Amino acid sequence: MAAIEAENLTRVYRVGDGEVRALDGLSLSVPGGELAAVMGPSGSGKSTLLALLGGLDTATAGRVSVHGEALETKSADELAIYRRDSVGFIFQDFFLLGHLTAEENVEVPLKLAGMERTERLARARELIEQVGLCHRGGHLPNQLSGGERQRVAIARALSNRPKLVLADEPTGNLDEKTGHEIADMLVQLNAEQNIAMLLVTHNPVVADRAQRQFRLGSGKLIEETVKP
Ligand code: ADP
Repeated sequence: MAAIEAENLTRVYRVGDGEVRALDGLSLSVPGGELAAVMGPSGSGKSTLLALLGGLDTATAGRVSVHGEALETKSADELAIYRRDSVGFIFQDFFLLGHLTAEENVEVPLKLAGMERTERLARARELIEQVGLCHRGGHLPNQLSGGERQRVAIARALSNRPKLVLADEPTGNLDEKTGHEIADMLVQLNAEQNIAMLLVTHNPVVADRAQRQFRLGSGKLIEETVKP
């Protein structure tokens, strides 16, 4: 089954008397378990696409489904459950809670999903180990490097075993070497855990790690490249 299926996806923002077509009849498909990259100039609709796929926004027209689950027909409550249980988010700025340790940050989505404390602590520890941070689990975000913070964010994104991970410029705030390490980690997790991933990136080296690359322009799909 396809991880992502978007058909004629359109998102129009009304601005004053005019309108902005952030997505303008975009159709694309990502097979299950694939790592795909989205590129395109600023304003081409990349963030809007991520927001629609993540259930953070709803389309003006068109259809979008994730692992066969249609999003455009979901209510706000259903979208909240979808966001909690089915998607993991990774952001350029990490968005960790500064007063919580690395492990506690990973625990947050597990708590929201109602997991009991002992199981939660064990799961958070396992995730922190998976991203190679077992010696840093008790550190606060400001005691971690940028790359380590992004690893915590990755662990948090994986906590509820999502079938899809959405990443918005995951290496955008990291130096080149660290950015490549983070890209390596995403490639490895994608391969080992069969989680589909869609990552928006301006970095061609990172995009090149993906099996599939989409290029957007003015809310439309301009080009799709698939590795043989
Ligand atoms: P990208 O992520 O590729 O930079 P966006 O998806 O953020 O592109 O934006 C696509 C277009 O939609 C841009 O022209 C942007 O100005 C516009 N846009 C995005 N969000 C809003 C909004 N809330 N209101 C009005 N216009 C918006």
